[in-house]
Amino acid sequence: MIFKILAFIFILFLIYLIFFKKGRETQIKQNEKSKSELEDIMVECPTCKTFVSKDEAILSNGRYFCSKECLK
Ligand SMILES: [Zn+2]
Repeated sequence: MIFKILAFIFILFLIYLIFFKKGRETQIKQNEKSKSELEDIMVECPTCKTFVSKDEAILSNGRYFCSKECLK
């Protein structure tokens, strides 16, 4: 009798593990996706023609510059 209960708990635990793992994997995938999307945004510096990521670029008059030196 107790063996049946233990087996039932074990199965429930396995189901919980599977769902928990799935949830974690989708979360990691979403994180990776949003991260790569951010990195994919590359803009060309109009002065030295270097491609820089939008996060690091300096925005001036609607143009993205790679550094303050190119902004001058
Ligand atoms: Zn530049």
